Amino acid sequence: MLSYEQALEHLLAAATPVTEARRLPLAALRGRFLAEALVSNVTVPPLDNSAMDGYALRCADVPEPGVVLPVSQRIPAGSVGTPLMPGTAARIFTGAPVPPGADAVVMQELCEHAPDGKVIVNQVPTPGQNIRRAGEDIAAGSVILPAGTRLGPAEIGLAASVGAAELPVRRRLRVALLSTGDELTEPGQPLPAGGIYNSNRHFLRALFETFGCAVTDAGHVPDTLEATRAALREAAAAHDLIVTSGGVSVGEEDHVKPAVEAEGALSLWKIAIKPGKPLAFGHVRKVGAEGTAESTAFIGLPGNPVSCFVTFLLFLRPYLLKRMGAAVVVPVARELVSASAWTKPEDRRSFLRARIAADGRVELYPNQSSGVLTSCVWADGLVDTPAQQTFAPGDTVRFLAFSDLL
Ligand code: AMP
Ligand code: MG
Repeated sequence: MLSYEQALEHLLAAATPVTEARRLPLAALRGRFLAEALVSNVTVPPLDNSAMDGYALRCADVPEPGVVLPVSQRIPAGSVGTPLMPGTAARIFTGAPVPPGADAVVMQELCEHAPDGKVIVNQVPTPGQNIRRAGEDIAAGSVILPAGTRLGPAEIGLAASVGAAELPVRRRLRVALLSTGDELTEPGQPLPAGGIYNSNRHFLRALFETFGCAVTDAGHVPDTLEATRAALREAAAAHDLIVTSGGVSVGEEDHVKPAVEAEGALSLWKIAIKPGKPLAFGHVRKVGAEGTAESTAFIGLPGNPVSCFVTFLLFLRPYLLKRMGAAVVVPVARELVSASAWTKPEDRRSFLRARIAADGRVELYPNQSSGVLTSCVWADGLVDTPAQQTFAPGDTVRFLAFSDLL
């Protein structure tokens, strides 16, 4: 048996990043991976500007509260004022450039209108107050997003803030999904006796899409060796990765294993984790590439839905991130206090479905069986529990949040 780390190391060693990149507009960037570092050409903010609606002035002119100053100009956001004459104030609005000569802004709530267009300043300002300095967000020439950044809303906003309309991103990883198992029925169909609905196919597609992959749902493979081999060959031609669920338990009468072996190579890894012990990893030769190194990676996930889901998060997620050129592939675990007891030690490292209660402690889903998909919906994440370990309420546990894994 391999440890989780050993299996992950093997998998990541084989995860060669896609190299092709293309430039996409801001509206198409969500979830994509930046191919080159983004360097800002501009300074943000470009000029010292006001953080408040109020009056820009010189601190030296207001040594005590109640000073009356003539208002010499009005500077709304989007316009530039003129140098501030000593002994005057400028009416200014949030985001407007602070005029040369002014060294503070007093918010309007601390000022009063006086006759003849004057203002009474009821606060003694300190230099720099309510002024956002030029460059305090971004200095021109600095790297603001390193290569490999996964682009989410904040990253897209930051790129826009320096005027970038397009960014170079890696092309999507093309993933072919195959389902196996004679018991599987597609949702929407009547369920025959002995059948179960195919859930893995649908959450796997959603998971791959979450990571920005282009998914081809290659459907349910007819249960013969020839059909399975043909499906693999076809999938290999136009994809970077073929993923199946089910049929990788050792000794199972199943066509996936011999078919992958016939079309390429396959290793079956027994990994000392629960749920999700078996994981198949190999490759399928691309048609016409016999004798060459050109092949498509193959990963066979376990069939039990919870095992499949958890194995995706533990293995597929870092594998996909690495292949898409992500800078960070290992999730951060949080140390949290358990509200539940785990009394029966397991012989394998266990990833228990758990959620964060209102008091911030972690509670375990009562049924940790690998077939109970309800646990994954109920849970907020996984408690990573070493083999042979128990814990009691109040003990600290290692929690992997789904929000950090997706
Ligand atoms: P297997 O790994 O093929 O032995 O499957 C283990 C368990 O997972 C069996 O109970 C299967 O019925 C179930 N299973 C396999 N594939 C799926 C799927 N796509 N959706 C839901 N359950 C599945
Ligand atoms: Mg099966």
